[in-house]
Amino acid sequence: MRLPSPLERLISLFSRLPSVGPKTAERYVFYLLKQKPELIEDLANALHELPKKIITCDLCNGLTETNPCAICKDKERDQTILCVIADERDLFVLEDTNIYKGLYFVLGGTINTLDSIGPDKINIKGLVARVKQLKPKEVILGLNPTLDGETTSLYISKLLKPAGIKITRLAKGLPSGANIEYADSLTLGHALKFRNEI
Ligand SMILES: [Zn+2]
Repeated sequence: MRLPSPLERLISLFSRLPSVGPKTAERYVFYLLKQKPELIEDLANALHELPKKIITCDLCNGLTETNPCAICKDKERDQTILCVIADERDLFVLEDTNIYKGLYFVLGGTINTLDSIGPDKINIKGLVARVKQLKPKEVILGLNPTLDGETTSLYISKLLKPAGIKITRLAKGLPSGANIEYADSLTLGHALKFRNEI
């Protein structure tokens, strides 16, 4: 079946989203066709504004509407603790626990030797620069308890320990191999509270 080209185009665009195959993409497009034009316009506007309104914070690499972000700007937050996370989304998950009151640094990935993602492919340099500038007493490695997360934690701890910084990691309350983004607030809050020194 040959669909009109605007439909084909939108289906092909939706198909690029994670977990959306061509069939689901087709369902989305036909669903949208039946909706009020206002919804389609709202959706289009929100998409259009996304790259313009969401920027990366120069200090923590987190997603924000202002630079520096509200967390980095907040002088009430504990400037002596820096929590290193792999993904921007982890920041929001950790914030939801309402337990952590320090600062963050987003690495933008983890070391994966099999996929040739070395330390130069993630923001280790930025982390070292931020640590030099902030001089935190403690760096919490809030990385996933996976092989990549462990490799990255080990690499960072070897790098920062000589500077005399206390390096801790989240307690083992997190299921091994699990992702931080899927942990519930209670488990994650517990893992933060009972973090271990490495
Ligand atoms: Zn920030």
